[in-house]
Amino acid sequence: MNEDFSLGKISADARLTATFKCYEKTEQNGKIVITACLGKGDVPKLNRGYGLDGNELWLSLNNLYQSIRGKDDYTAADDIISWCQQYAHPYYASEDIEEYRWDIEKDTEYWDFSTNIHGNFTFDVHTMRKDLESLYRDTLVILMFKKCLERLDVSTDLAQITWTNEFADFNSFPMQKHLGKISAYLNKMSGVTMKLGLDENGELKVMPDFHSVFDAARFALSQYVSIPTDYPIAYADRVGVATCECCGRLFIKNGNRQKYCDNPECKKERNRRKSRTAYRRKIQEENDNRWA
Ligand SMILES: [Zn+2]
Repeated sequence: MNEDFSLGKISADARLTATFKCYEKTEQNGKIVITACLGKGDVPKLNRGYGLDGNELWLSLNNLYQSIRGKDDYTAADDIISWCQQYAHPYYASEDIEEYRWDIEKDTEYWDFSTNIHGNFTFDVHTMRKDLESLYRDTLVILMFKKCLERLDVSTDLAQITWTNEFADFNSFPMQKHLGKISAYLNKMSGVTMKLGLDENGELKVMPDFHSVFDAARFALSQYVSIPTDYPIAYADRVGVATCECCGRLFIKNGNRQKYCDNPECKKERNRRKSRTAYRRKIQEENDNRWA
């Protein structure tokens, strides 16, 4: 297997992340703050990575952004908390979790101090919102760049990029005249650096220098668009990403032609449309037969 195409799964390279069962939302100096909390004797669940692959992490963050759009911070906090409970605490400083300590998963005193007293697992909704928005915008712009470079029609992509007119002319040719703008955008986008660290066995290891789930998601996005499109879907970790025609969310395709996400409501809509098409076809056939 070609190693270049097996990078989509970052779990193996990512450091330990923590998933907490319980969060509190409070107001502090006019900001809504989310804090992980642990009961006496409780420890968070530790995962290598995020308990899911990089592509899923990336898309789930975009979908979280879409679900909190238009909600105030206090209400949005509930959606964000559910996301954290399902996946992982979104921000972490690498020094917070001493993963080279073999007993860290059971050290309730360490976790009590780090979480409840030191407050290492606290963040405000406003910051998370800004990060979600910036990831969402990068995602739409970069996916549009990829299509543009492949000389595909980008009009539906441009219709979603509502916050800037900067790319309004991207549907025109030759594509070469857009390369400068594409390059300038990529240069401004935050990237991922690598660093030397200590892994769970207390051994030296080169690993991505992630400080939040957003770093990991941008890494997945970057890898996704770097894989040539002519590689078949489901080859190694090559996946197809599409916008659901029913709900507008981004999802991972199981096959080239899939147009709807796995949400039960969207599947129902797909079946309704299918049966309408079948009905139209039947009427058409009857009409054709009448004139035959
Ligand atoms: Zn859908």
